[in-house]
This record gives sequence, structure tokens and C-alpha cells, in this order.
Amino acid sequence: MTHRARVVIIGGGFAGYNAARVLNRKHRREIDVTLLNPTDFMLYQPLLPDVVAGIVHPRHVAVSLAAALPYTRLLPGTVTGLDAGQREVRYVDSEGRSRQVGYDRLIVSVGAVSKVLPIEGSETYSHGLKGLPEALYLRDHIIRQVELAAVADDPEERRARLTFVVVGAGYTGTETAAVGQLFTRSLLRKYRSLAGVPVRWIVVQYDDRLLPELRPSLGRTAERVLRKRGAELRLGTTVRKAAPDGVLLSDGEFVPARTIVWTTGVRPDPVIDTFGLPTAGGRIQTDEYMAVSGHPEIYAAGDAAAVPDLAGPDEVTPMTGQHAERHGKAVARNVAASLGLGRGAKPYRHRLLGFLVDLGGWQAAADPLGVPLSGVAAKLVTRGYHLYVMPGNRIRVAADLLLNAVLPRQVVQLGLVRGDAVPLDSPDPELPRRVYPTRSPQGEHAEAGTPLSVL
Ligand SMILES: Cc1cc2nc3c(=O)[nH]c(=O)nc-3n(C[C@H](O)[C@H](O)[C@H](O)COP(=O)(O)OP(=O)(O)OC[C@H]3O[C@@H](n4cnc5c(N)ncnc54)[C@H](O)[C@@H]3O)c2cc1C
Repeated sequence: MTHRARVVIIGGGFAGYNAARVLNRKHRREIDVTLLNPTDFMLYQPLLPDVVAGIVHPRHVAVSLAAALPYTRLLPGTVTGLDAGQREVRYVDSEGRSRQVGYDRLIVSVGAVSKVLPIEGSETYSHGLKGLPEALYLRDHIIRQVELAAVADDPEERRARLTFVVVGAGYTGTETAAVGQLFTRSLLRKYRSLAGVPVRWIVVQYDDRLLPELRPSLGRTAERVLRKRGAELRLGTTVRKAAPDGVLLSDGEFVPARTIVWTTGVRPDPVIDTFGLPTAGGRIQTDEYMAVSGHPEIYAAGDAAAVPDLAGPDEVTPMTGQHAERHGKAVARNVAASLGLGRGAKPYRHRLLGFLVDLGGWQAAADPLGVPLSGVAAKLVTRGYHLYVMPGNRIRVAADLLLNAVLPRQVVQLGLVRGDAVPLDSPDPELPRRVYPTRSPQGEHAEAGTPLSVL
């Protein structure tokens, strides 16, 4: 090669970050790596429920890309299109200007977004939990409901404000309900007027068990822990309608509530549909080397990619952080091999090592290497794993966990929630773009994205 090959990576999450890291570590003399990402951090999403509950500081789940990838050129921006013929990526930079960047090899790792179902009111009146702004909004919203309940004269209103409905019991919904129960319990202790007042956490789940995508033993443990803490599990039930004052369930019951958390799963980022690449279930279809068929210079990884599952039970690898992290490392090797570097291409093969579900307090459900664990043992494995896998901020997160164990929780709002703001951020082209009602310095409402400025 006479020039340094240009590798562009779209998306700096689990997959993109790891791809850049491996390319930098092994081939920085031969390869010029550019990473395009809307934020300057890699978000460690598995700890978002802990951000909601005020256990982990929001900044600590955001790992600085500049600090972690000193040899990568970081382009702050959002990709809007791809010209595969010209080998160019189009993007909008952080100040709204349209730009493009050329590549010799491209890695697409844009991840996924919250899946919103066509259910009346669900997009308007529920909270999501996929990004940092959503976690912070949800946290503020929960605190606000408890504060308003404390001064409510009407017992019906108080009851509705202290009712929290989680729709969907995959790991996001189950963890959110579990840590949420303990969070609201600690919040209530601050208000004498709420002493002895019951709080309801209701989990609405289409399947007949929690965590249907994981081994049954994990779901059973989660069910036991949540029920013991008083959660109401509405299994085999769906939501027919979401409204500002509650949810209508498929069994006809209307549950008065001011908080609906929507965690019915994720779907690949819709920007993929504009790329003109082959897809399967919305994900970019790749071969076992993670290359896109018909485009040997384009690769895909993480939640955005349908990669054949050579080692597991599925047709393609499921959308998990565990796969995405390994996809990132594997795709870096294969991209380097396509440029005549390294030890040659290798098919992607990884058997999931098990799942970890944090249930708050000293409770968790886990099955590392197929061994079912619960209670303190599962909790230690869960905490240890996240601290080990996090690409940065480990000491900060460990300190947060330690402080949380010995100090009372800080329960103040950050002032993000105004009026009836309910951000569920889902850049679905068929849905109106979500607006985060927050105040600009002039006191006007600003558009989506501005809440990040408060971090
Ligand atoms: C609350 C929660 C808990 C979870 N817990 C677990 C767990 O315990 N275990 C587990 O294995 N998995 C867990 N997951 C799933 C895991 O986080 C994802 O599978 C993983 O993040 C996927 O990695 P990725 O690199 O494909 O995408 P992401 O990590 O989502 O990264 C995608 C990146 O692309 C960027 N991007 C998006 N669109 C564009 C664009 N147009 N232009 C440029 N950049 C773009 C995004 O900003 C982001 O930085 C959890 C997820 C959530 C939400």
C-alpha cells in the first residue's frame, strides 16, 4: 500500500468503539481510522437503569471516545446517507452542516432504537430507556411524581402518581421495574406525608413469563424478586391504549398512572433503510466475515448487522452488547485482512457466555457459562462483569456503587422535566420526531437533542 487506508466507522457504541480500538492498537501505522458518532462518548447502556435509580452518575456511563481512542479521528455528526458507488458517507455535523467523508473500507455499527408499537398514545405518553437523555428524564419524572404525590389532597391523584407501569419485560423492562421499586421506596422515606402509602409497580408483559428471551430460570428468579417486593405482574397482557392519565390494558382494566415506561424491545436504526444495502429484519445482512454481500468494502457489526450465528442456536446473532463487543473486535480483524494486514480473515463465531440481570439491592439473576445463580452471588458476578467490560470510568462507577451502599441516595431533580414532557426517543421515519421540551436561555422550548447540553 502506498497510502494509509481510510477506514470509516459509523457509530461509536459497543461494536464501533471496539473496532476502532483494535484497528488503532494493531494497525495504526497503516490505517487511518475515522469514527462518526453524534456524541463524544460511548454509552454503556446496561447501566442505564442504575442512572434512572440514581445509583450511578450519568457521566460515568458515558466513556470519552477522545480519551479511549487517541489515534482515531473523531467526527461528531449523524450519518444521513451513503453513496456506495462513490465510497462516500454523508453526514450532518454537530452544527447542522451537511458534509461527506470518503472511505476505502466502511464499518456500519449504528445500533438500534426503541421499538414503538402502533398502540394509541404509546409514543406520546410513555418514556423510553435507550439513551442518556431518556434515563435522565425518566429519573426526574419519577422524582417529580413522588414530590407531587406528597402534596396531593385527592387520594385518587396520589394513587395515580404513585403508580408506575412498565410495558415489556425483557432485560430493560425487568431491570427498570426492579431498581425502580427500590428507588421509589427510598424516595418515599423522605416525605412524612407519604409514610405507609403504597407504591404500585405494574409490569405488563405480553408473554406468560418475564425475560422470555433468556433461560426460564432467570425469568423465575426475576419474578420471585419482583413479586416479593410487591410488584404486580400482568403476564399474558398487553396495552390497548396509553393516555396522560393511565393505561388501558387488553383485559379491559384502566390503570390510572402518570408514568408509563415503554420497553417492548428495539429495532435496527432506521437510517439503515436509506443505505441501499441488503437487509434482513431491518439489519444489514452480512456473511460470516461480516462483509456485506455485493459490497466487499462494506462491513456491518453490532445490533445493526444480521451476522450468521455459527456457534449459537439462532439464525443470526441476537442483539446484545456481548455480541456487539465481539463483532467489533472480529470486524476489525477482517477489515485489516481485506487490506492485506494482520493474520487473515476469520469467520465470526461466539457462543453467548450467559446473561446477567440486575434486580437492584443485593438481588440479580445470572447464568454465567450456563450455571444458574441468584441473590448475592449473581449480584457480585453482574457487578464484576460490568466493571470488567466497561471500556472506561471503571473506578468512577465502582465508587458510585460503593457510595450508594453506604450513603442515602441523592433524590433531587435536575430540572429537565417541564409541563407534560415525556421523551421516548425513537427516530422512526414513520413517527413524528420527538421534541424534548426544555428551556433555551431565552425561555423558549427547544428542539430534540438539547437536553444533552445539561450533562
Ligand atoms: C437499558 C439497556 C440495558 C441493556 N443491558 C444489556 C445487558 O445487560 N447485556 C447485553 O449484552 N446487552 C444489553 N443491552 C443491549 C446492548 O446495549 C446493545 O446490544 C449494544 O449497545 C449494541 O451495540 P452496538 O454497537 O450495535 O450499538 P450501540 O451501542 O447502540 O451504538 C450505536 C452507536 O451508533 C450511533 N449512531 C446511531 N445512529 C447514527 C447515525 N445515523 N450516525 C452516526 N452514528 C449513529 C449511536 O449514537 C451509538 O453511539 C442493553 C441495552 C439497554 C438499552
